[in-house]
Amino acid sequence: MHIFKEIEPLRAFLNQKRAQHRIGLVPTMGALHSGHASLLKAARQETHITVCSIYVNPAQFNNPSDLEKYPRTLEKDLALLESNSCDVAFVPENREMYQTPSTIQFDFGDLDKIMEGKFRPGHFSGVALVVSKLFNIVLPHVAYFGQKDFQQFKIIERLVDELKFDLKLRCMPILREKDGLAMSSRNQRLDSDQRKKAIVFQESLILSKELLAKGEKLSVVRDQIKTKCEGVGVKLEYLELASGENLNPLEIVTGKAVLLIAGYVGEVRLIDNILIHGN
Ligand code: AMP
Repeated sequence: MHIFKEIEPLRAFLNQKRAQHRIGLVPTMGALHSGHASLLKAARQETHITVCSIYVNPAQFNNPSDLEKYPRTLEKDLALLESNSCDVAFVPENREMYQTPSTIQFDFGDLDKIMEGKFRPGHFSGVALVVSKLFNIVLPHVAYFGQKDFQQFKIIERLVDELKFDLKLRCMPILREKDGLAMSSRNQRLDSDQRKKAIVFQESLILSKELLAKGEKLSVVRDQIKTKCEGVGVKLEYLELASGENLNPLEIVTGKAVLLIAGYVGEVRLIDNILIHGN
């Protein structure tokens, strides 16, 4: 595996390959797990050269303590990339990605005023900034993201569409632990008691789906889920039902819909979602 810390040598390497080889990019923030590995696997199957970036992007953290405590496990990550036959790791430092302080802000209209955008001001502007940089550095044919961050995927779809990035996007399913907890780098921060409580998110999504299917009103479902979370000492931030196409809020399940949840287990903020198909 080739490891690059700097942009120019990476560009030179990929420029030699691009005419003959399709390039797949998997952007990550490290602390890699099997969810990331599933993106790498898809990239390996669908493209010739898999590039994985590992970069904890300060611009997308609205909470300084979350940034400071974000798990950093570079040695283990590189071993995981090797064992998943990744061709190129891009592991830049902050000074490489932000040589000058950034002045660009993104505004995605309705898309970034709800859910993650509402509770994490500036988050998606920071995501769009770093993803744009990575797209311009790597010039991938295909870029792989996870449904785990569903709203992020919709933002990136909009980014690619509006700025005419010449690439295809793939959204891969959520990988879960045996008990249903969505895999996440932040799960490493949970102690064993918190780890048990964290399954309340997926349980809540499944219960909400059942209640909605029985015709229960969303506001009633929300109250019930809030109580369920509080019951195990988990702070619910939001439970939303939205269109899977454009994230417009829904009251009832119609067409391709998505249920999204976020909350805190102790200091650790977790998110999850499930897709639902209505009539
Ligand atoms: P992160 O390192 O958390 O920024 O995630 C990097 C990419 O991996 C994002 O596109 C995530 O949506 C995706 N990802 C994170 N967790 C999972 C998971 N449990 N299953 C599949 N993909 C995931």
